[in-house]
Amino acid sequence: MEERKSTVVITGASSGVGLYAAKAMAARNWHVVMACRDLEKTQKAAQAVGMPENSYTIMHIDLASLESVRQFVQNFRASGKTLNALVCNAAIYMPLIKEPLRSPEGYELTMATNHLGHFLLCNLMLEDLKKSAAQARLVILGTVTHNPNELGGKIPPRPDLGDLQGFAEGFKAPITMADGKKFEPVKAYKDSKVCNILTMRELHRRYHESTGIIFSSLYPGCVATTALFRNHYPLFQKLFPIFQRYITGGFVSEELAGERVAMVVADAEYAKSGAYWSWGNRQKKNRQSFVQQVSPQASDDARAKRMWDLSENLVGLTPVSSQAAVR
Ligand code: NAP
Repeated sequence: MEERKSTVVITGASSGVGLYAAKAMAARNWHVVMACRDLEKTQKAAQAVGMPENSYTIMHIDLASLESVRQFVQNFRASGKTLNALVCNAAIYMPLIKEPLRSPEGYELTMATNHLGHFLLCNLMLEDLKKSAAQARLVILGTVTHNPNELGGKIPPRPDLGDLQGFAEGFKAPITMADGKKFEPVKAYKDSKVCNILTMRELHRRYHESTGIIFSSLYPGCVATTALFRNHYPLFQKLFPIFQRYITGGFVSEELAGERVAMVVADAEYAKSGAYWSWGNRQKKNRQSFVQQVSPQASDDARAKRMWDLSENLVGLTPVSSQAAVR
């Protein structure tokens, strides 16, 4: 009889951290659903890194589109697979744009892709994770730049969700930022990453005890060679990896970053819900992993609840505050 593998869905597995996380999970004998917007590119990427053909399935998702996220979940369920882990990894970073871009639903594109699409996906796929026989995990990628108290997060602009006025006012034009202030594309990325961590912490608070699911985040290190920086100045793209490798020491390869994601998804020592994992290049000897304190805004429980409620409205979810699982 064929062995039944565990299944992980990884968003944005067509390049960088997500691709190497997919490779590392396949090497752990998991089946990987590579949830991506460009199917052909993903197929080529999987082959290029040597993933065995039967170790993955490629399925379409455009995280910027709420309709596409819903369609993905339907397609996943129709495939008959059981979900054991979900990795929210896809992201865009568009530091040079002057005017905001909009998602199909009219939201600012960076927040829509990095946060709102994943927020909806997590909420919908909770039902699938609950059916996992083994303890399921849900992992959301974070980054050091969400935290202005960390060395890597000190370069302005600082992330700031304010009182989430932009979300409260519907987040459509002319609103561009979560705090309702003027558009700033780098801040939009950092804000979206604060929302990612708030989502993980709020998932943990609401659902860990009642479902047993392990919710966590990680900063995989500075993976300065990925396509995340494709929209930056060419000179930046050239110098950034050198700077990170030789000056800050924060540089990690895409392969190592992917391995770190896989550890958090599958390894016993990372079975800690509510944790934000990091690997010290300054804080710890031998780059050991440790649970790191998140930024003041990302650790603010009241802000997490407000972000959750407002995000529910923006993605069209019926408020779940009346459900028994919610405390
Ligand atoms: P990357 O190589 O650019 O990968 C981003 C992935 O997201 C790509 O597969 C991309 O797909 C996908 N994506 C973008 N928009 C999408 C959409 N609308 N729908 C579906 N997929 C979409 O960047 P990366 O560096 O690996 O980043 C991966 C994660 O790591 C991000 O969450 C990032 O915040 C986090 N991170 C990265 C670093 C770093 O130094 N690179 C550091 C800390 C955290 P396409 O191939 O179609 O563009």
